[in-house]
Amino acid sequence: MTFVYAIPLHNRFRGITVREGMLLRGPAGWGEFCPFGDYSDAESAPWLASAVEASEAGWPEPVRDRIEVNTTVPVVSPSRAHELVAASGCRTAKVKVADPRSSLVDDCDRVAAVRAALGPGGAIRIDANMAWDVETAVKSIRKLDRAAGGLEYVEQPCPSIEDLAAVRRQVEVRIAADESIRRAEDPLKVAVAGAADIAVIKVAPLGGVRRALEVAEACGLPCVVSSAVETSVGLAAGLALAGALPSLDFACGLGTRSLLTGDVTSSELSPVDGHLPVLRTAPEPDLVETVTAPPEVAAHWRARLERVREI
Ligand SMILES: [Mg+2]
Repeated sequence: MTFVYAIPLHNRFRGITVREGMLLRGPAGWGEFCPFGDYSDAESAPWLASAVEASEAGWPEPVRDRIEVNTTVPVVSPSRAHELVAASGCRTAKVKVADPRSSLVDDCDRVAAVRAALGPGGAIRIDANMAWDVETAVKSIRKLDRAAGGLEYVEQPCPSIEDLAAVRRQVEVRIAADESIRRAEDPLKVAVAGAADIAVIKVAPLGGVRRALEVAEACGLPCVVSSAVETSVGLAAGLALAGALPSLDFACGLGTRSLLTGDVTSSELSPVDGHLPVLRTAPEPDLVETVTAPPEVAAHWRARLERVREI
């Protein structure tokens, strides 16, 4: 049994305003197949493997039952950033920086406001989404580190593994690899090149919880589990991974339920005191009705599923 959803986002994300995907049901429960629209069929294959694992095999037993998560601060004014962080209940905030709509001065003001909201005990990480060259990264990271009163880490400052390694040699702040792990043919190259201190791992692009656990072990870096902005069905897979990692030293990026305007289940995967429970979720019929995709969108996803299945 399958079902296609289309859920508007509160704010534009990765250039999209509506998150679409497919839920698959099998003997072990529900899985989510939701590669972004710009992913090729070949790139989408691990996403399907992940949905099939969830629906047919289930996940390994967790070793912890609650996961600390970060709140995410988009490109907003300092006062709005302060408000968002204070309302989140999280002690870790991830701040988007290096966006074309925001200058380095704006970014510094925003991280300073986030520090004021978190207090000295909180942790601030920034995500540049590959926007910088090495020189800009080094200069910007030093300034942002000062403005933040200390950064926990900076996520993917530059696109290439070589440039990540070059930045890492020049700054004190830890470097986390995200896109380099997710879209690389060999995620382990990151560790081998000395390009990062932390690996950001996501269940779906890596092909499931088991495969992601193997990647985590092989790369030998502390991991942060992040979502791909799924419904609560896909988020549960991320929580299963975070729950099963032998060690978990940082808050995870799984508190993304609030980016969507709707969901398929009422089992609230919204953080309480900055934490989420490790649990399985299933769509509820009355909620499914509210997020069902229009027929042409559903037809597109069914065709996509068939093509990716062939691979
Ligand atoms: Mg990232």
